[in-house]
Amino acid sequence: MKVPKQFGTFSFWLPSRLPFAIAPMDNYYIADQFSMLAKLMDIHGENSFKSKSYSIAAFNIEKLPVQLHEIEREKIFSLKGIGDSVGKKVLEIIDRGTMKALEDYVTKTPPGVLEMLNIKGIGPKKIAQIWKEMEIESLGELLYACTENRLARFKGFGEKTQKNVQDAITFYMKNQGSHLYAEVESYAWEINKILKKKFEKHAMEFTGAFRRQSEIIDKLEWVTTVTVPELKEFFQKNNFTEEESGGFTTLFRGPENLLLEFYSVPSDQLTDKLFETSSSEAFLTEWNKNFAATKKPFRNEEEIFSSAGVNYIPPFLREQPEIIKKAKQQTYTGLIQPEDIKAIIHSHSNWSDGSNTIEDMARACIKKGLEYLVISDHSKSAFYANGLTEERIREQHDYIDELNEKLKPFKIFKSIECDILNDGSLDYSNDVLATFDLILTSIHSNIKMSEEKAMSRLLGAIKNPYTTILGHMTARLLLSRPGYPADHKAVIDACHKHNVVIELNANPRRLDMDWRHIPYALEKGVMISIDPDAHEVSEFDLCKYGVLMAQKGGVRKEQNLSSFTLKEFEAFLAKKKK
Ligand SMILES: [Zn+2]
Ligand SMILES: [Zn+2]
Repeated sequence: MKVPKQFGTFSFWLPSRLPFAIAPMDNYYIADQFSMLAKLMDIHGENSFKSKSYSIAAFNIEKLPVQLHEIEREKIFSLKGIGDSVGKKVLEIIDRGTMKALEDYVTKTPPGVLEMLNIKGIGPKKIAQIWKEMEIESLGELLYACTENRLARFKGFGEKTQKNVQDAITFYMKNQGSHLYAEVESYAWEINKILKKKFEKHAMEFTGAFRRQSEIIDKLEWVTTVTVPELKEFFQKNNFTEEESGGFTTLFRGPENLLLEFYSVPSDQLTDKLFETSSSEAFLTEWNKNFAATKKPFRNEEEIFSSAGVNYIPPFLREQPEIIKKAKQQTYTGLIQPEDIKAIIHSHSNWSDGSNTIEDMARACIKKGLEYLVISDHSKSAFYANGLTEERIREQHDYIDELNEKLKPFKIFKSIECDILNDGSLDYSNDVLATFDLILTSIHSNIKMSEEKAMSRLLGAIKNPYTTILGHMTARLLLSRPGYPADHKAVIDACHKHNVVIELNANPRRLDMDWRHIPYALEKGVMISIDPDAHEVSEFDLCKYGVLMAQKGGVRKEQNLSSFTLKEFEAFLAKKKK
């Protein structure tokens, strides 16, 4: 049986009960194909009479008292509810495993749109709207649109649908293997606590990607002195399945569908194993090349570095091999910490697509001990996000003036997340742009573009004298959308030349700019700004995830704009305005 290549990759495609390879060609399977055909025709806006006939065929096939692949071919056409056209397609499925009509629709539908069919609460008509009208092509983008309240605003959706869709996507994604750091974080610490308590006389240390604060986590890893049989006994009792074990390594899958891996070692090898497993492959290879001779049982990681004559490299920096050479001269202590964030820069109020009033947001900042708030609602082109017209900007500025009077010495700054238009220009005239304290510029529309196009838009915005901060540099959404291609060095060089700050968007799904490009920005003296892009007060706390990435990029607090005190920030703006 020939299976078209793209079919195996989407779980929706599989008959719900069995993986594809061992699925029998039963009536359920055949019915699934017709129901998928009907759905895809609806998504593509085909004649609804025709699509309806295929979904009825699916219904009838499921109810048949005989298995279609077991009866004589001729007899299929005379069965109740199966006419000529459906009958021919049934034979095609029996012969080839699928039908041409369906293959054609699958080919012209983006994979992410196909995947939406797995989400409860949105049928083909709504998926068509999401894809064609909102230009959303993946579950990650759709989820993000929900968190930005964009789905609820769209006609025919509403708050309740949005909530259902959001829950359904979260559930679906949880079952997909890779996770955002922020999604697994509390689970990781919870399990860690349980393990430490259960095996209190033993060492139990986080290692691997989680210890490195990686933005994506495929499994949680520990180095421990607990033996393999002890671990097996404990996890089996708690309904974890054992996936693999070899020698002193065991891998379990938990009820949450997350993988947990353990490296069991005697206590005198603990430090070596911890160092080895918490280094990236590239880092470790480079290290071993240089310091293989220094290998011996170490008491702690500090000893490993000092015996090699290298300054201590914290786990989160054990990624890129170049750091080893740098650490011979440079120290990596005293990097930015979550408590070094002094302000919320980049936030949305209920004037655009945020949930809270500006006053509530300001008061929440005050409560957290922050010194100022930068309100940067969407600009007018972002109509889906209720972007501000010139008139509403004036009203908002008056309102902010009033609040500033009332909330002294706290200060709210007037800003806007100004769309970078297709030609690289900004969304308002210079007269309007001049009324803001600072301007954050971002690309939100037509993000499917070539590097050349992306660069001309980015450089256009960076050159604009009104741009203070370049927002989410590539518009990527982790685990769901790669972001437009860009020449990072050229962007950083331009920001250096035009005195523009680069945002490190702290939303765990963005974390954009990528930490891998931060060292070059710092080398060039370009400031970064850790911003939560908050759409409600609770999202102020997202700053922490930006800080974790900034640490991976080697940022010190004086290199981060949102760590400036109010006085320093005002001085910075005054200098920029000149
Ligand atoms: Zn944005
Ligand atoms: Zn934003």
